[in-house]
This record gives sequence, structure tokens and C-alpha cells, in this order.
Amino acid sequence: MVKSEPLSLTILGATGSIGRSTIDLVTRNPGRYAVEALTGANNVELLIEQALALKPKLAVVADPLRYAALKKGLAGTGIACASGPEAVVEAASRPARWVMSAIVGAAGLKPTLAAIERGAVIGLANKETLVSAGDLVMAAVKRAGATLLPVDSEHSAIFQVLDGAQMEAVEKIILTASGGPFRTFSLNRMGQVTPEEAVAHPNWSMGAKISVDSATMMNKGLELIEAHHLFGLPEDRIDILVHPQSVIHSLVAYVDGSVLAQLGTPDMRTPIAYALAWPKRMAAPSARLDLAEIATLTFEAPDPIRFPALALARRALRSGGGAPTILNAANEVAVQRFLDRRIGFLDIARIVERTLDALAAAGAPAGLDDVLALDAEARRVALTFA
Ligand code: NAD
Ligand code: MG
Repeated sequence: MVKSEPLSLTILGATGSIGRSTIDLVTRNPGRYAVEALTGANNVELLIEQALALKPKLAVVADPLRYAALKKGLAGTGIACASGPEAVVEAASRPARWVMSAIVGAAGLKPTLAAIERGAVIGLANKETLVSAGDLVMAAVKRAGATLLPVDSEHSAIFQVLDGAQMEAVEKIILTASGGPFRTFSLNRMGQVTPEEAVAHPNWSMGAKISVDSATMMNKGLELIEAHHLFGLPEDRIDILVHPQSVIHSLVAYVDGSVLAQLGTPDMRTPIAYALAWPKRMAAPSARLDLAEIATLTFEAPDPIRFPALALARRALRSGGGAPTILNAANEVAVQRFLDRRIGFLDIARIVERTLDALAAAGAPAGLDDVLALDAEARRVALTFA
């Protein structure tokens, strides 16, 4: 058998939860990948450790104050170092065939677009990029002939069971949601929860922002918008189903009554492996599913009273234009304020709603500059409510 060339790969957000899981898979397959660039925001010790192990051509730390530490840690290795947001975009522009987009928030938009615009294959974890600028991003994918492979577990599930050749036979897609750590809490109790309680997800181990999003269920709202862009279905053909065991990762319902689902234990290395090896499959070390052991899978409808974020996301998607950009930016601000203990948990959705109301007259963004300007304006307005 002829040994194939290693796949050149860049990881944006290497130091985060998704970045570390990606590196775990890369490390388990020596010789299969050649790392072009790694980026992180501020955990420079971990970034140095990762760079020493994977030997990328370039390591970038987004925070310029950490540049000296990065340079010192990689001195004599021949690995180029850089810092600042523009350097993150430069890392994405380098000629890696495959790029993991795992920066959190709209900060991932410009670097992800840079990788898309040179026609790369993108493993997309950074859902905020599609929420904030979905029309623009999908148009760029088409124009550049890039490939967008969903890494979010629900979207990976749908991608795996969707018959893309027969989209007219798809009745709806059903995104499952764990319901988060407060699924059974009263509204009163939810008003009192701490950041520590919110980031302690029952099933998944994730970064702080997405953990809070899961607790408010804004994560499912963002995923609804993400699914709309990835699979081209309107808002009323995307359902949300609470499934606390996180075993069924999502489902596709067809016009003949068949419903196809993808199942697995909650370990992001499975959807990451699917995107890394696509269109083939590769081994992943995720725990195997033992359905006899689990015995019971349960389902319930989401509660719109305790989880108003879902309706806000539906409203933003239906309104279109700049509303999803505003929703995402306001949510990023509110989540950070909650993590900083400046507002209560229930204030998060309130701030998003007030920001959507305040900017209801904003025009539809025509390009990237408009998206970035609207994002900045929504952050400014959201802060006045927070
Ligand atoms: P995380 O907070 O653990 O990691 C985020 C990464 O982005 C880190 O490397 C951080 O250094 C980097 N980063 C943060 N701000 C940055 C900035 N301004 N510029 C450049 N880099 C920056 O987050 P995560 O849990 O790994 O999530 C990453 C993305 O993947 C998010 O969009 C999240 O919604 C999505 N996602 C995560 C999971 C999961 O299980 N963790 C599942 C599905 C989707
Ligand atoms: Mg998800």
C-alpha cells in the first residue's frame, strides 16, 4: 500500500476544549497530519506545550501581551511566533488543507472566513460565525468552493444521516438538547444560580461560554440558526427536543415517516473525528455506547417560560437581516457579564431581548464590514442594559 501524504492542518482555538480534543486525535495518529499553524488567545503555557509536541510552522497567541512569553518558550525550535488578531487571520490564511475553526464567539468570524476564502476544508465548531454572518459565510463557501463540515455534535449527527441528494424528501430536522444543568429548576431557583453552577454541565465538558449557553438553552437557539444555514431549511422545519441523556445527537424526519438518528456517548472526539476523516471514518477513543446499561432514553418539549432564549433565536432567524448578528453579540456580552457576576442568570435572555428590540430598525448588513459594525453596536447597546 502506498503511504499517503500527511494532511496539512491548522487549529484555530487550539488551547480550548474543542482544540484540545482535536489535538488528542491528531496525536493518536502519528504521521497522518502535518500541522501548519496553532492559535490560542491567552493560555500561552499550553500553546507552547502543544507547539513543542506538534511542531507547527507557526504559533499565534491572540493577546499581544503574551507574545514575549510565546517567543521565549519556542526559542530555538524554528517555529515562527506571532500575536494579535491579524496574526490569527494570517494563521488561517496559510495553506493548510484542513482547518479546525474552534475559536469561541464572533472573534472566529474573520479567521474562519480567511480559511473559507482560500477554499479549505473547514471543521466548523465555532457556531457563532454562522449565527452572526450566516448568509455571508455560506456565500463565501460557495464562491470559493470551500467545504464546511459541521463539528457541533447535533449538526454532525444531521450531516451523517441527511440524504443531501433528496432534500425535498426531508420533512424536518430535530435538534436534541440536554436541557442543561437547570432543566428541572424552578424559575425562582434559576434566578439565584451562580456561574459555577451554570458551567457544570451534566453530560458534556466544554468551554465556559458554551456551558452558560447550554444552561440558558441559547446554545440550542444558536444551533437552530446554524442548522438553517448549514442545511438550508426554514425556521419552522427545525424542531427542538429535550433529551437529557445526550445519546441521540439529532434526527432527520423524512416525508415517508422514517426518522433517522445518530447516536453515541457525549464525547466531542466522535464528531471531530468524523470531520477530520471525512469522507471516510477514523477510529476515535470515545466511550462506546451501551444501550442496555443506559436502558432508558427520555424526551420532553422545551419549556418556553424558563428558557426564553429559544424563542428569541427563532424570532431573530425569522426576522433575518441583522437580527441574528444582534442576538449573538448581545448574548456574548450578557454571558460574560454573568460570568463576571455583574448580572443574574435570568438577565441574560432579558438583555438579548432588549437589545433586539432596541436595534429592531437596523438594516440588513450588506458585507463583512456591516456585520462587524452591527456586532459592535449591539455589544455597546447590550452593555447599557447590563
Ligand atoms: P473554549 O473557551 O474552551 O476555547 C476557545 C478557544 O478560542 C481557545 O483556544 C481560546 O484561546 C480561543 N479564543 C478565545 N477568544 C479568542 C479571541 N478573541 N481570538 C482568538 N482566539 C480566541 O471553547 P470551546 O468549548 O472549545 O468552544 C469553541 C467553539 O466550539 C465555540 O464556538 C463553541 O460554541 C463550539 N462548540 C464547542 C463544543 C464543546 O464541546 N466544547 C461543542 C460544540 C460546539
Ligand atoms: Mg451542540
